[in-house]
Amino acid sequence: MNGRIYLDHNASAPLRPAAGEAVLTALEVIGNASSVHHEGRQARRLVENARRNIAAAVGARAEQVILTSGASEAAAHVLSPILRRNGETIPVSRLYASAIEHPCVLAGGRFPAAALTLLPVSEAGVVDLNALETALAGHDPSVGGAMVAVMLANNETGIVQPVERIAEITRRHNAYLVVDAVQALGRLPVDIAALGADFLLLSSHKLGGPKGAGAVVLGDAGLSPAPLITGGGQENFHRAGTENLAAIAGFAAASCEIDEDLAAATEIAAVRDSIEQGIDTICKDAGNKAGEPVFFGRKAPRLVNTSCFAVPGIRAETALIALDLAGIAVSAGSACSSGKVNKSHVLSAMGIDDLLAGCALRISIGPETPGHHAERFLGTFKDIVGRAG
Ligand code: PLP
Repeated sequence: MNGRIYLDHNASAPLRPAAGEAVLTALEVIGNASSVHHEGRQARRLVENARRNIAAAVGARAEQVILTSGASEAAAHVLSPILRRNGETIPVSRLYASAIEHPCVLAGGRFPAAALTLLPVSEAGVVDLNALETALAGHDPSVGGAMVAVMLANNETGIVQPVERIAEITRRHNAYLVVDAVQALGRLPVDIAALGADFLLLSSHKLGGPKGAGAVVLGDAGLSPAPLITGGGQENFHRAGTENLAAIAGFAAASCEIDEDLAAATEIAAVRDSIEQGIDTICKDAGNKAGEPVFFGRKAPRLVNTSCFAVPGIRAETALIALDLAGIAVSAGSACSSGKVNKSHVLSAMGIDDLLAGCALRISIGPETPGHHAERFLGTFKDIVGRAG
C-alpha cells in the first residue's frame, strides 16, 4: 500500500500504533476472564482496565460500560422494547429515530418495523426539533414508553446534532435517549452526562482501535436494556460471551489517545478546508466543464475531519475509481453497504435530489493526514474535472 493516500477515516481509521501494541500484548494472555486462576485473573484485569479507560473517554464510570463486538451490536442491544431498572421491567412501545441515522440504528434493533417513526431533518441536515416535540407529544404512554435515537455526528456529512437540546425535549416527555457517538468520539468532546443520554453507542475502529469492538455506555439512571445475547454471566449479565481480549485492549488503548486528536482539531480543520477551497478553485478554473461544487453541511456545525461534496456532472463512482487508480481512497456516500455505491439516505433526507446525490463524495481525514495528501488529492481531482464535460 506504499504511496497510497487514505482519506476515508469515517469508514475506518488506521490502527494507532499504541492500539496495535495493546492488541499484540493481549493476544499473549491465555486465560479466560471468567476463570478464577492466575491466568483468568490476568485476563480479567485486562478487561477491567480497558473498561475504565473506555468509560473515562466519555466521562462515565467503568460499571456503566458494556463491551460489545461493535456499534452495530451495541445498537441492536440498546434498541430494545424492554428496559430494566432495579429489577423492574419497563416496556417501550415506539422508537423515534432521525432519518439520517446509521443503518444499524434504522434497522430498529428489537423493535418491530411498525414501531419505528422516522424524524425528519432540515435541509442543513439537523434533526427537526419541532417534529420531535410533536411526535413525543403525540406518543401514547399507556402502551409503553418512547425511545429516541439520534447520532451526535453523521458519518456521511459530519453534521453535528444539537443533542443537549434533544435531551431536554426527550426528558420533558419522559422518553429514553440513545446517542450514537461513533463518529464523534475523538473528534468532539463526548461526555455522557453533559449530553443527557441514557445510552451511548461507541465503536473502536472509528478512533484507531481494531475493528470488532464497541460499547454501550449506560447513563447514570440504573436503566439497562434486556440482554441481546444470553448465556454466561459476562458483562455483569448484560452480554454473554467470552470477552474478545485483544479487541477490547486495542479499543481502550485508542480511547486513551483521543485528547491528542481533540487538541489537533485546528490543524485537521485546516487540511479539510484546504481541500474544499482547492475544489472551489478547480471548478471555477474549469469554467463550464464542471458545475459549481456543493459542500453539504459546510455552514452547519460539523466534524473538522469530514467533507461531503458533489460536483454536478462528476459521477461519484467515476471519481472514486479514478481516485483509487491514482492511489487515493475516498468514499461515495456511505461505505457500510457491502462495497456498493448506493443512494445516500442521508442526502435524500436533506432533500438533495438524486442526480446531485449521485455525485457526492466523502473525504474524511485524521490527525496524521499531512497537507501534501490534500495537494495530491486536488491534483488528481483536477484531472478528473478536466476530463469531464
Ligand atoms: N454508527 C455510525 C455513525 C457509524 O458510522 C458506524 C459505522 O460505519 C456504525 C454505527 C457501526 O459501527 P460498527 O462498524 O462498529 O458496527
